[in-house]
Amino acid sequence: MENEDQIKQELQDLADKLERYDRAYHQQDAPLVTDAEYDALRRRAEELEARYPHLIPTNSLSRRVGFAVATGFQKATHTVPMLSLGDIFSEAEVVDFMDKIHRFLGLPMDAPIEMVAEPKIDGLGFSAWYEDGVFTRGATRGDGMVGEDITENLKTISELPKKLQAGNDLFDAPPKILDVRGEVYMSKKDFFILNENQEKIKEKIFANPRNAAAGSLRQLDANITAKRHLQIFAYALGAYEGQSFKTHWDFLQTLKGWGFPVNPLIRLCQTTQEMLDFFHEVGEKRAGLPYDIDGVVYKVNDLALQKRLGFIARSPRWAIAHKFPAEQATTRLNKIRIQVGRTGAMTPVADLEPINVGGVLVQHATLHNADELKRKDIREGDTVVIQRAGDVIPQVVRVVLEKRPKNSQPFEFPSVCPVCGAHAMREGADAVTICTGGLTCPAQAMERLKHFVSKDALDIEGLGDKNIEQFYQLGWIKNPVDIFTLQERHEFDLLSLEGWGQKSALKLFDAIQRRKTVPLNRFIYALGIPEIGEATAKDIAGYFKSWQSFQENAVASDASERLMKIDGIGVAMAKEIVDFFGEEHNQKLLGNLLAFITVENAMEETGKTPWKGKTFVLTGTLSVAREEVKARIQELGGKVSGSVSSKTAYVVAGTDPGSKYTNALKLNIPILNEEEFKKLLDEALK
Ligand code: NAD
Repeated sequence: MENEDQIKQELQDLADKLERYDRAYHQQDAPLVTDAEYDALRRRAEELEARYPHLIPTNSLSRRVGFAVATGFQKATHTVPMLSLGDIFSEAEVVDFMDKIHRFLGLPMDAPIEMVAEPKIDGLGFSAWYEDGVFTRGATRGDGMVGEDITENLKTISELPKKLQAGNDLFDAPPKILDVRGEVYMSKKDFFILNENQEKIKEKIFANPRNAAAGSLRQLDANITAKRHLQIFAYALGAYEGQSFKTHWDFLQTLKGWGFPVNPLIRLCQTTQEMLDFFHEVGEKRAGLPYDIDGVVYKVNDLALQKRLGFIARSPRWAIAHKFPAEQATTRLNKIRIQVGRTGAMTPVADLEPINVGGVLVQHATLHNADELKRKDIREGDTVVIQRAGDVIPQVVRVVLEKRPKNSQPFEFPSVCPVCGAHAMREGADAVTICTGGLTCPAQAMERLKHFVSKDALDIEGLGDKNIEQFYQLGWIKNPVDIFTLQERHEFDLLSLEGWGQKSALKLFDAIQRRKTVPLNRFIYALGIPEIGEATAKDIAGYFKSWQSFQENAVASDASERLMKIDGIGVAMAKEIVDFFGEEHNQKLLGNLLAFITVENAMEETGKTPWKGKTFVLTGTLSVAREEVKARIQELGGKVSGSVSSKTAYVVAGTDPGSKYTNALKLNIPILNEEEFKKLLDEALK
């Protein structure tokens, strides 16, 4: 009997990991792991949950679809939930799927059930709502119940009819309500063009067309969406009030009549063999299609049967996604290199003989960690099978042993850091080897600096990776504080450095100067606390609102509990934050940094700004920190000034007020005591 505590812990770890990966994938359009890795973890969780249903964690993937919507968009509630699809990978599972349908409907196993087979478009699901034939609202799937309102963004997609076309054989008038679901995608060609452009303007490079489509659609500024060439395929029905359909096939034909693009490869299948034939045919066509697909979807054609079959948890019983295996290729592994990241993690990387895998040139693959390397016994000079699962970093699946050179030697994972020579240590259950050199390790120090100035952190223009490396090696910038004193220390040296002139140097100093005021979430992210990514930094900023409040809570004796009150922060993240603040050298660094940097308070996300244009002045001692009062005022759009003038809206006076109080009296400015201020605040928040 396995130990239930261990199972419980494993399930919790799996749920936390999947949640983190989901957030990166669905909210940030930037996956942290390959789909294959993600799917393997998900399957493990599903297996354990089936055996131990009483141990299912509250944040388990089986209890939700996708991920909650990101902040910034209005929320859009789905009248009919937008669910996911179950997925299968083998022919035996297709047979099993059809058997289950027969059993559920109480039909003999050989009774024919007509199915529609469709390519599974690798994009982003959307819902488009029409009233009396006119497009009124667009939404993303979100968590299945509530998505993001992307009406304006969808309007920019020319393929989406804004008004349903007439002249339909089946209907004289458009339905009263029609909620069409489909996929927004970016063609492979447009994806490459976009990435080329992004590179030129030093913007985010997308991992694959799916992420590019999602990132382009989920833009708060719909003008950006309009500039990206997005396309759609429609394939499902949500809410509907109108003349009814009998089959899914009829519905798809009607969609075409209304003006929606429907995938031309769809096919009616009478037998399981026909479904499998479709799968293989589409698989062969896949590389030549102008858009990415990641499998095919089989759906019961008869809508009455669909209704009877219904749903299980997060997916329908009447449909399934049959996914393609990841794309693989064979090449030579020239060298195993150890990369040292900013947290000291020593990751083995394979330098490969360049090879084309599914249209993408692959030159490196991750080898994950020392254990994985040993388990697969991967050696320099080996011929290896690599896999690219439609995204991020390719991986080595296995070694082709028959092709191993005679004199090959097992790879010895170094016991010291290859960059600084410090002792290497194994840490935690993740099998990660860590360089113990800390900030004395140039690799770690440089990576941290690069992270500090990167696009989503301080975003200092002109201080790219190459410059950071050069300034570090010259000894000019060894830690983040040095960035802000660079001008006074090395202005003249910089001018004599090759490639730098008066203009470029001034531009750099100007960019540094501009980043002396930085939004709270960016500052938190820039610190590079392990596990704390951009989204979590935003959550922290949104919760604590000010740097002071975050810091106070992070060093409190019950800091972990306080931090875990934030949605999305679990034990591991809380521990990293507490450890970070507990390090003396970090405290010192923060103290020095904050002498140069002003961290702006986070704004309220609701966008409620009833105090916009109103200036407040604070005087005397208040029962809460002034910073906090200031933050509350700013959240509501107001400003806090240090002196009273005729433009002051209110003076908030605590005990022992100073000259500001008398000035307010003179100028007839309303004066509020703390209680009155709180009342005003409550009213504004309503
Ligand atoms: P899914 O994308 O595998 O399948 C469901 C979706 O398929 C539907 O919501 C719909 O949008 C789409 N679809 C495309 N063509 C369709 C058609 N013809 N008919 C019906 N639907 C069609 O499932 P999911 O829940 O959206 O996402 C889970 C998958 O996403 C995982 O299996 C994994 O591969 C990937 N993922 C990866 C990461 C990562 O970190 N790499 C993280 C989260 C999810």
